[in-house]
Amino acid sequence: MNIITVKDKSFKPFISEENLQEAVQKVANKINIDYQGKEPLFIGVLNGSFMFFSDLLKSINLSSTVSFVKLSSYQGIETTGQVNELIGLDESIEGKDVVVVEDIVDTGNTLEKIYGMLAEKKAKSIKIATLLYKPEAYKKSFSIDYVGVEIPNAFVLGYGLDYDGLGRNLSSIYVLND
Ligand code: 5GP
Repeated sequence: MNIITVKDKSFKPFISEENLQEAVQKVANKINIDYQGKEPLFIGVLNGSFMFFSDLLKSINLSSTVSFVKLSSYQGIETTGQVNELIGLDESIEGKDVVVVEDIVDTGNTLEKIYGMLAEKKAKSIKIATLLYKPEAYKKSFSIDYVGVEIPNAFVLGYGLDYDGLGRNLSSIYVLND
């Protein structure tokens, strides 16, 4: 892995493909144990979670269903603080054990929005799985049930995460090189 340039910024290697896959496996193993005998509904938060969601689901050995919502809050390398719902939930979650799958939890604004979207829809349970978590940036109090890797408060790219729409296809994670 080398330093790369995406648009006008330089990024250095941060989490290798191998370490990412270990983190995905760790989360999948826990979910497989916790949901034994249940049939969870996995809700992926687009766009950023698509790679994690796909790899995670391949390691889930439970009978399960999937759905997606699409939210957006970032512009460039900063959060706007406002989370927009671009595609909402189009199915009933009543009585279901829901696992929300996020790429990264930063301030927690997106999580708050998701809880708002799911509240009063009578899910049996709601848990959150995220590949990356920035504890120093987190401002909310919702519990985050499954975390792949805790990272410092820096801007990262790759494995689904973008900079101005670019870099999502990278198979490992890079961090802003400043
Ligand atoms: P939050 O709402 O928790 O502040 O941020 C969640 C969303 O912001 C993520 O789903 C992701 O789209 C975006 N985000 C937060 N931190 C980063 C980052 O370091 N890199 C990238 N590419 N996106 C981020």
